[in-house]
Amino acid sequence: MVISIPELYDRYRECAGVSTDTRKITEGCLYVALKGDKFDGNLFANDALEKGARYALVDNPDLATDNRYLLVDDSLLALQELARYHRNRLGIPVIGLTGSNGKTTTKELIASVLSRKYRTYATLGNLNNHIGVPLTLLGIDETYEIAVVEMGANHQGEIRLLCSIAQPTHGLITNIGKAHLEGFGGVEGVRKGKGELFDFLATTGGTVFVNAQSEVLMAMFAERLFREAVFYQLTDQYEILTDNPVVVYKDEVGQVVTTHLPGRYNFDNMAAALCLGKFFGVPAEAANEAIASYNPTNNRSQIIRKGSNTIVMDAYNANPSSMAAAIQNFMKQDAAHKVLILGDMYELGDESPAEHAALGELIAQGRFDTVILAGKDMRYALGALPKAYYFPDKFSLHNWIMDNPFQDTAILIKGSRGMGLESVVQFL
Ligand code: ATP
Ligand code: MG
Repeated sequence: MVISIPELYDRYRECAGVSTDTRKITEGCLYVALKGDKFDGNLFANDALEKGARYALVDNPDLATDNRYLLVDDSLLALQELARYHRNRLGIPVIGLTGSNGKTTTKELIASVLSRKYRTYATLGNLNNHIGVPLTLLGIDETYEIAVVEMGANHQGEIRLLCSIAQPTHGLITNIGKAHLEGFGGVEGVRKGKGELFDFLATTGGTVFVNAQSEVLMAMFAERLFREAVFYQLTDQYEILTDNPVVVYKDEVGQVVTTHLPGRYNFDNMAAALCLGKFFGVPAEAANEAIASYNPTNNRSQIIRKGSNTIVMDAYNANPSSMAAAIQNFMKQDAAHKVLILGDMYELGDESPAEHAALGELIAQGRFDTVILAGKDMRYALGALPKAYYFPDKFSLHNWIMDNPFQDTAILIKGSRGMGLESVVQFL
């Protein structure tokens, strides 16, 4: 017998947490058996129960041998519906956040600001897809007063689905750029796909926060009718005193705030968080403090000092927009010597050769002592950069760096997640 969603909800309420990974089972949790490319989670359900899971949600009827197994038609759909059902019972504001770049950073900054006034739940790490968003929602209990939910997408319809589950009452698109071009079908496709968050807010009477300095976001805003809209990055709001190596800004009442984040593009993320803080009544001083104390983790815009070198570690991910933002910022940095260590940008499909070639052109406009490129498609950047060092993979790069140490140098490290360029640091 297949279990209904209200019944499943009752079982979930008896559990302490939800897990989809048998390596991370905690005592009394609900194990959800999902099917991946390589594994069928159903086959690990018994294992999960033995490790202490209270129930196992499965979609293989042959397995549901006792009442610790909860049988459904499709575990993924059941997980999503359970999350939606739970969300509906939480009477709290949910801030939905999507965009091509800076989602996690902005989410962390917003959460850090709102935490000064509310018990705030935010997406853990980067759990932002069709599985991560339901898991995020199921982590919110009655003690929370507000939630910030990151929504990622690499194809049309995905944000629509995530909105139908998370039902954001407030929302923000960080920016529209060149990311996941392959799945979205070009930048127009990205605009349409991310616009699904605006569609949801417009039709449900939600509140939208819009970066007034972004032409494309303002245009997307103008295409729909919203009940309430709040604009940020108005020119009279904040003054950026410097953005190198980290952002220092002055607010409306003249308070100077020194942050840990590099680059103008990170001020966009801060401005969003300050705007939401103001909207939800967090005192300006507390909001500034929250921004100042935020320290990125996970190789996302981290500044690392090693020996006499300063490393801008941005190896968490890369796409043409974030690559350009990081490099342009690095060009402005004051340093005796500058080195770029860049890896392939993934998921660009047919655009990949052209985008890597364009990156080469951009780099050629700057002054760098050494340009080091690694990865299959980085060879397309070499056309504009005859003097660059090129390595088809990062292991040959490691060896080269060990033999050619740098001193008194600023080094930008950036590439797609799959390149894992953070490993380079140990050799510097
Ligand atoms: P993902 O798609 O992996 O979830 P994300 O949108 O959550 O990425 P972050 O993890 O916050 O983005 O940041 C990743 C990188 O994107 C940063 O290290 C930085 O290089 C770049 N980045 C951050 N904010 C912006 C921005 N506002 N504009 C352009 N690039 C940005
Ligand atoms: Mg993210």
